[in-house]
Amino acid sequence: MESKFKLLIDSFGKERFKFNEPLKQYFATEVGGPAKLFFIVFVTQELIKIINLARDLNLPFLLFGTGSKIMISDQGFDGLVIKNRTKNIQTVSVKGKVTKYGIGVDEALVEVDSGVSIKRFMEYLDTQGLESIDFAGVPGSIGGALFVSRFLQNRTKSIKILDLKSEIAEISPGILSPKKHIIISALFRIRALKR
Ligand SMILES: Cc1cc2nc3c(=O)[nH]c(=O)nc-3n(C[C@H](O)[C@H](O)[C@H](O)COP(=O)(O)OP(=O)(O)OC[C@H]3O[C@@H](n4cnc5c(N)ncnc54)[C@H](O)[C@@H]3O)c2cc1C
Repeated sequence: MESKFKLLIDSFGKERFKFNEPLKQYFATEVGGPAKLFFIVFVTQELIKIINLARDLNLPFLLFGTGSKIMISDQGFDGLVIKNRTKNIQTVSVKGKVTKYGIGVDEALVEVDSGVSIKRFMEYLDTQGLESIDFAGVPGSIGGALFVSRFLQNRTKSIKILDLKSEIAEISPGILSPKKHIIISALFRIRALKR
């Protein structure tokens, strides 16, 4: 195990890891022992790289978002725990028409990293004049919530995932599986607010 940890540490730098990190501070349940190795990802390329490396090394790993729906024992986790703080949100295209009042946006395609919190996503939609619902009070990240939230699934055009063969694919929410897929980001089709 130690030699596997060393390979990971050599790839990312020792300063990026925490050792025997207590996990209860990250989880809503406020229970859970330490993670042998703990790492925070900030960009999707890092998320893909560290998961691929852990798989190549056959190292047990656990990925979480905001920790609102996860629990581990007081024994902790004897492997790598990854906290997902990927944070990019961008409007990739808009659809609309030109009228005598100007250019009207009907809907937008918004790409959101899996580590973005639901709260931040809803705030973004609000600032862009796009439709959100009163969902901002629900804890969770896009990566954790897409498995359970009909609201998000119904607005999803496609989901970028890393599959068990470590290949990246774009899939529809209908075939999303927590056993097979790591969510990297999602593309949402969101209507503009009615003016
Ligand atoms: C007080 C409270 C109120 C809630 N209310 C609602 C509600 O009204 N509606 C609702 O739908 N849900 C609700 N939930 C559930 C929760 O919001 C969702 O399950 C959620 O969004 C989890 O996201 P998370 O980032 O916290 O997931 P985590 O707790 O971090 O992880 C949950 C699971 O998802 C996996 N996971 C996390 N990120 C990824 C990823 N990128 N790729 C693959 N797997 C991943 C983890 O491995 C873990 O198995 C509530 C939860 C709490 C605590």
